[in-house]
Amino acid sequence: MKKVVSATLLLISLAGCRMAGTHDKSTDNQHLSKPKLVVGIVIDQMRYDYLYRYWNKYGDNGFKRLVKGGFSCENHHFNYMPTYTGPGHASIYTGTTPAVHGIIANDWYDFETGNLEYCVQDNSVQTVGVDNPATTEVGNKSPHRLLVSGMGDQIKLATNFKGKSIGVSLKDRAAILPAGNMADAAYWFSGGNDGIFVSSTYYMTELPGWAREFNENGLAVKYSESVWETMYPVETYTESRPDDSKYEGTFKGKNKPVFPYDIAAISGDKKFSLLKYTPFGNNLVAAFAKAAIAGEQLGQDSITDFLAVSFSSTDYAGHLWGPRSVEVEDMYLRLDTTLAAFLDYLDKTVGKGNYLLFLTADHGAAINPWEMADHGENTGHFDFSEIERAVRENLIRKFGGDDILLAFENGQFFLDRKLIRQHAIDVKQVDRMIVETCMEFPYIQTALTRNDLMFKQYDARPASLVQKGWHPQRSGDVALVFKPGWLSGAYGKTGTSHGSPWVYDTHVPLLFYGRGIEPGSTAETSYVDDIAPTVLTMLHIQMPTGCTGAPIDDVVED
Ligand code: ZN
Ligand code: ZN
Ligand code: ZN
Repeated sequence: MKKVVSATLLLISLAGCRMAGTHDKSTDNQHLSKPKLVVGIVIDQMRYDYLYRYWNKYGDNGFKRLVKGGFSCENHHFNYMPTYTGPGHASIYTGTTPAVHGIIANDWYDFETGNLEYCVQDNSVQTVGVDNPATTEVGNKSPHRLLVSGMGDQIKLATNFKGKSIGVSLKDRAAILPAGNMADAAYWFSGGNDGIFVSSTYYMTELPGWAREFNENGLAVKYSESVWETMYPVETYTESRPDDSKYEGTFKGKNKPVFPYDIAAISGDKKFSLLKYTPFGNNLVAAFAKAAIAGEQLGQDSITDFLAVSFSSTDYAGHLWGPRSVEVEDMYLRLDTTLAAFLDYLDKTVGKGNYLLFLTADHGAAINPWEMADHGENTGHFDFSEIERAVRENLIRKFGGDDILLAFENGQFFLDRKLIRQHAIDVKQVDRMIVETCMEFPYIQTALTRNDLMFKQYDARPASLVQKGWHPQRSGDVALVFKPGWLSGAYGKTGTSHGSPWVYDTHVPLLFYGRGIEPGSTAETSYVDDIAPTVLTMLHIQMPTGCTGAPIDDVVED
């Protein structure tokens, strides 16, 4: 309805222009002139409430600048599961969901190889940036499993490959998937003993001079010898629970999950391994992104470039300490200052009003289920291996063996459909047996079969999110959804995780800022696959090949 109205208004105003004879070229050009740089910022595991929970402690020039000076989509969600990092980054930038872009998880069972494959693993390419690539797999990574084009690819096509597309993150998948298949470069951090940003031969044969210089500038070494302390006195962190909490994990070599965190003392011989858990990890990424802007001259001419920056330390911290920890709060307060400095840098180098920026997250997170249960909620930690065991036992009892079950990964059962046909087993019976077995476990919400997902159309949570996250060639044969607030206890009961179709995992910030963006906000629902079409419509260029979303009216029309 809204679209019809605005189209009518547009016609009227165009007609008005013609009649009044004011349809001059300068307004025309202004309408079509494009940002010099598009910047995507993803905060790994940023729940929607972090924007406002810590509001009073944020400065004026970071998150607040984007909220007040930009456009905020207050009811923005992921519309698929699993809400993991790989699928999240792929979806934000391709304007579609795993059902189409094919990044169905971080790791998944591959029907062809029979192995668990990592989403960006690619052993046909090698590490760039290390002395001896044969000794490491840190750079054996590429976007080759990404089935569609992304925002960066479309910008490259629209500029006849003159615009650059670059991705930067601590995590390889968070740099590679956003930058797209046609990217000029993606850079990610090699911790451990390295402490450097690397890339792969998918993009280049050697690091550019500015990146080599960055790796030798001593910043990572300086951070590895630093101590992380709270920005303000710890007792003023009243938005969070006390620092010392049984719901928080702790590092080996430290007996309590409390400040201060002495990086060198905890790291031991793997000097750079701890940085990713601290605000220093985010600072390194911001510094490297600035070096990329300077080194590659991003946003310095009229041809639009594209830069995707993903901050991952928030996710490592979230997993270890959980959403209600002082550690996570302090990380966001410090990220706010890092962001402010990054925006200042963009103003200075690209120019105010010359860049279009958006900020979002790749998923949210649950509050620790054990903590929720202590406060009276019906939540807890479950054990996926007990479900797998029960299914195997029933397969043996009913069908004489469990060899038709190839794998159980990401809450999905992968069946050997060829073997099922050979043995003339009725696949419907197998499906029913698995579904019935799973539904006996009290923490399971629902179980959907391949038949359900291929031939039915779901439009309500949680089934619709399973369907949009389910790829016919890559996903499993029966997909489980656990109940709200529950988490797998496989990695311990402290901290938190994510991956569900429930709102605490799907509701994240979405802020647009810069060229063409009028300040404002909306509470209308938007979805992750709307982000890329919104940005690309503002640029008046084609949407990515698999796009399933639509431009967000309130952003585009402003
Ligand atoms: Zn993530
Ligand atoms: Zn703590
Ligand atoms: Zn995570």
